[in-house]
Amino acid sequence: MTAASAPPMIRVAGVDKFFGPLHVLKNVQLEVPKGQVVVVLGPSGSGKSTLCRTINRLEPIDSGVIEVDGQPLPAEGKELARLRADVGMVFQSFNLFAHKTIGENVMLAPMKVRKTPAADARKTAMELLERVGIANQADKFPAQLSGGQQQRAAIARALAMKPKVMLFDEPTSALDPEMVQEVLDVMTGLAKDGMTMLVVTHEMGFARKAADRVIFMSDGEVVEDSTPEEFFSAPKSNRAKDFLGKIL
Ligand code: ADP
Ligand code: MG
Repeated sequence: MTAASAPPMIRVAGVDKFFGPLHVLKNVQLEVPKGQVVVVLGPSGSGKSTLCRTINRLEPIDSGVIEVDGQPLPAEGKELARLRADVGMVFQSFNLFAHKTIGENVMLAPMKVRKTPAADARKTAMELLERVGIANQADKFPAQLSGGQQQRAAIARALAMKPKVMLFDEPTSALDPEMVQEVLDVMTGLAKDGMTMLVVTHEMGFARKAADRVIFMSDGEVVEDSTPEEFFSAPKSNRAKDFLGKIL
């Protein structure tokens, strides 16, 4: 598997983040080896989204280090665009371009950021849409698709940049219940294919089945870091017990 000398795919070390007086990430440490699937759990406001956003440099950090595949993300500049492309992100809201077709949505970033020729970008887009099960929707506009299909398109769009890491921030929270599973199935497939993933979700079934590891955050801190079996059967902290008591 991973060579002992290989750097972790994601390294978050001693990261603090403030929003004004609000201390939202408190000395966060997290190393994710290549191919690992980490589910991030925690109550609303505990800093889960902020953690994802800092890994992608959508939010600056106040102290500490964040590296992806051994490379620190610069604060700005051309390098940032290139390195940020290594990190795919899928949000609760699908954020597809409404006036572009599904196929065009998937082709766009590789053409702009990676300067991929259109024909190659189209070919890759079709392969990815096939992989997420919506190749037959390529010529439609986002509004013509169901929420589940739109989210699968958003995953394909993120994958088009050939990211080293995928971050998912509550990818199924905005979906009608009957569409949740089709998106989780795509994510499970990605995990099986060896993608390194950080997944914020309230889907405990996914956490139990697909996660190699569960991180529990509370009040800006990583309070627990364990296997799903350990976390669900024997949470160590009162904060985690409290959280599980409310959701299970
Ligand atoms: P979670 O995703 O776990 O619900 P967030 O990371 O969204 O938590 O938020 C963590 C804390 O930071 C919350 O108290 C939230 O209100 C605050 N927060 C998030 N984004 C901002 C922002 N842009 N400006 C000020 N406060 C923010
Ligand atoms: Mg959030």
